[in-house]
Amino acid sequence: LLPLTRSPWRLGGLEVQHRVVMGSMHTGLEVADDGGAALAEFYRERVIGGAALVITGGLAVSSVGRGGPDYGVLTDQRSRWQKVTDSVHEAGGLISAQLFHAGRYALSLADADGPMQAVAPSAVPWSAARGAVPRQLSGHEVLATIEDFARAASVAREVGFDAVEIMASEGYLINQFCSPLTNLRDDEWGGDAARRRRFAVETLRAVRAAVGDLPVLVRMSGADLMPGSSTQEETDDLARSLVPRTEYGAGVDGLSVGVGWHESRVPTVQASVPHGAWLVYAERIAAVVDGAVPVIASNRLTDLRDVEAVLSRGDIAAVALARPFLADPRIVERSFAEDFGAVNSCIGCNQACIDRSLVFEPVSCLVNPRAARETRYPLVLETRRSVAVVGAGPAGLAAAADLHRRGHAVTLFDADEPGGQFALAARIPGKEDYALTVSAALTQLAGSELRFGTLATADDLADFDGVIVATGVVPRRVDIPGADLPHVLSYERALREGVPPGTVAIIGGGGIGVDVAAYLVESHDERTRAVEFSARFDLPPTDHLARVGHTTRLRPGSQVTVLRRSGRFGAGIGISSRWVALGRLRDHGVSMRTDLGYRRITADGVEIETAEGIEMIPGRTVIVCAGQERNDSLVPGLVAAGIRHLVVGGARDATGVDAVRATAEALAAAREI
Ligand code: SF4
Repeated sequence: LLPLTRSPWRLGGLEVQHRVVMGSMHTGLEVADDGGAALAEFYRERVIGGAALVITGGLAVSSVGRGGPDYGVLTDQRSRWQKVTDSVHEAGGLISAQLFHAGRYALSLADADGPMQAVAPSAVPWSAARGAVPRQLSGHEVLATIEDFARAASVAREVGFDAVEIMASEGYLINQFCSPLTNLRDDEWGGDAARRRRFAVETLRAVRAAVGDLPVLVRMSGADLMPGSSTQEETDDLARSLVPRTEYGAGVDGLSVGVGWHESRVPTVQASVPHGAWLVYAERIAAVVDGAVPVIASNRLTDLRDVEAVLSRGDIAAVALARPFLADPRIVERSFAEDFGAVNSCIGCNQACIDRSLVFEPVSCLVNPRAARETRYPLVLETRRSVAVVGAGPAGLAAAADLHRRGHAVTLFDADEPGGQFALAARIPGKEDYALTVSAALTQLAGSELRFGTLATADDLADFDGVIVATGVVPRRVDIPGADLPHVLSYERALREGVPPGTVAIIGGGGIGVDVAAYLVESHDERTRAVEFSARFDLPPTDHLARVGHTTRLRPGSQVTVLRRSGRFGAGIGISSRWVALGRLRDHGVSMRTDLGYRRITADGVEIETAEGIEMIPGRTVIVCAGQERNDSLVPGLVAAGIRHLVVGGARDATGVDAVRATAEALAAAREI
């Protein structure tokens, strides 16, 4: 299996064992106060798990180039980076430093002299900068910045990196120079496309000169996904100008292709983005450079069987997976052993990774709370103990998996089917992969006792050394006249049993209300959604990796209204996903009403009161998504019987249920019990 994925390839003078590269991810560990120990261990585990080549998160080439206060500077703290490269090499891996400059995306920067203003090709601010305007680099400073890249590349070589990757994508400094949106100059660094790309070309030349024969990658933007930015022809010309065999080529050894800017209104990495959606741009670059250098594809690829399909199309040399290595450090090892069912898939939630990095909090992973915490939670074998985990939702599965992995005897109970909130989420279009992380955890728990469909009592649990209570939440009922009518359903029942055709009123517009609306109006077939996605954002067709097999529940013409007393719709959905989720509902004609009071529910729908008066919102079915309550009925019995236990996740605190918190608590409990 996977013959193409397993085959070796060359990146300049480097022989890389197989075609799966661990792509660049900012972790926040780059500045941890530990001399680099946590970052070294983070990468080491992923090399042991099979990553052929690791690309670091962005390492700034200067202090002003940092993406935020938790970004490391490559030319500082050499011993830290040396520790990282030593760790990877001892594990038998290869590692490339990503040379990074955020340009106008730098935020909240300070150094010993106080606050620092971001720099950019031109003084063009971006929305998240909250009014802060970057300072335009002078011609002299442009040259100095190129020297910064070269100096950082030299340091990378000195401290043992096997390659360097120049970050020229995702809207960072080099991408800013290339784009007419952010480069308004009219000098040798801007004014027409050739002068706008000159900064990229000169940076590559300087880096090449600094590192000699060390392989140099450029992470270029295949498409900025910004109206008015570089044209496809300009992007093609940039690729040509970087490869060695054109007359003015600057000598890159490989091109990695990214898409989109932080401020782009096209989603690129969210769960709703079809698998392989961006392959088309990497293939375009590959066609342009025509085999002159290997081209690496990335983004929304989570399964090595998809990687094999990508490689079999013939143009792509390798694939960079990033978040899938957070979710499962052993993704390559497990896939190469054909143990696909055990791979803990990245579900594209962004909740513990991208959403955190955007606010400069240390990154981890919802489905793998050990990610970037490897030194805090080492995989040590301990005295074997007998532990019961009650509840097989995301928290219970995380606790059980960690206990089992370290050799404890685990018995996992659930009153229902396994999966909990993830089993429900997997019914939402675009969230089907949530089911994979449930099945992966169960596969990994082979040998443990699984007692599903069993309502555990204190008596059942008396003989265990400890009990972790991860029984989650139950839907909150609403106190509205008519709430007990037969056409009023909890979100759980609606998702489990389906909803009859006709109008639907949803009471509650938080994350679950938004998900339920998506369940009602979106196609449940990924191929259909892939076609819709391309049409919606005016992109080339991208359905080649879409999975089929889900039944469509799309009901054209049915009217869905989401009601919220007050506040923001989709509150609780992560910063990088909320705008996408709400945009999808608007596109499907879902009505969203807020600033209202509920008067009663009738056979016709929900009667509401607003500043304009009383109104009936039609609802042949009414679905209540009004939050959750703790499902902790087991706890009093455990207390009374004196059974040692820890309560985690929604069972401990149901306010603003947060799956990231739940799985992190579960891991901590697995270590403490
Ligand atoms: Fe993937 Fe979510 Fe984990 Fe990020 S937090 S790596 S998106 S599963």
